[in-house]
Amino acid sequence: MKKEFAVIGLGRFGGSICRSLSQQGMDVLAIDIDEDKVNEYSSIASHAVVGDTTDEVVLKSLGIRNFDHVIIAIGDNIQASILTTLILKELGVKHITVKAQNDYHEKVLTKIGADQIVHPERDMGQRIAHNIVSNNVLDYLELSDEHSIVEIIASKHVDGYSLIDLDIRAKYGINIVAIKRGKDILVSPQASETIIKGDILIIIGADTDINRFEKNLIED
Ligand code: ATP
Repeated sequence: MKKEFAVIGLGRFGGSICRSLSQQGMDVLAIDIDEDKVNEYSSIASHAVVGDTTDEVVLKSLGIRNFDHVIIAIGDNIQASILTTLILKELGVKHITVKAQNDYHEKVLTKIGADQIVHPERDMGQRIAHNIVSNNVLDYLELSDEHSIVEIIASKHVDGYSLIDLDIRAKYGINIVAIKRGKDILVSPQASETIIKGDILIIIGADTDINRFEKNLIED
C-alpha cells in the first residue's frame, strides 16, 4: 500500500519536502495556517488545507492519525512546533519528523517523543564548511560528534596505488566503502583495487583519522 504523508508548514523546507514527495508519486497532505501558502501548494500536493495545527480539533478533523508519517516544518514559532508535535504524539501518529530551530528546541522535541529531529540549516552549513575548507571534500555526512562519511576526490598522490599499497585501513583506521568512477560505482572495493586520480572515494571513519588521511595523502 502507498504510504501517506502530511507536511505541516509550507516554508522553504516544508515546501521542498512536499514538492519532492509529490514528485516521487507519494500522497501528500499539505497544511499551513497561511492561505497563500496553501494555494501555492494546492496543485503540487494531493490535498492542501488551511489549518492551525496547534488546534487538536483541526488535526482530528483531518484524520491525521491515519497518516504514516507527518513532517512538522514550522520554523520561527517554536511554541507552535512543540504543541503540534505533542498533539500528534497524543493522537498516536506513527512517525513524526520535526525541524528544530536550535538545541533547546531539539531537547524539548526529544523529551516529548519526536521520532526524528532534523536541523537542515545547521547540517547544510557544516557540509558547506567542510567543502570550503578542503576543495577535495565533495560531501560530508555527520554520523556522530566524532564520526562521518565523506566523499573525497582522489589526488595525484594516490593515483595508481591499490588500497593494499596504501594500507589505508591499518594506517588510518578508516574504510573506503565505495569508489565512484565516472558513472560507475564500486561498492566495497577489493584491497587490490587501484585508485585513479579523480576517483571519488567514499570514506567512513573517525573525523581525526579522515583528516589525517586527507592531510597526508590527498592535499597538495
Ligand atoms: P523556512 O526556513 O523553511 O522557510 P522558517 O523556518 O522560516 O521556514 P516559518 O516560515 O516560520 O519557518 O514557518 C514555516 C511555515 O509554517 C509558514 O508557512 C507558517 O505559515 C507555517 N505555520 C506556522 N505556524 C503554524 C501553525 N500553527 N499551523 C500551521 N502552520 C503554521
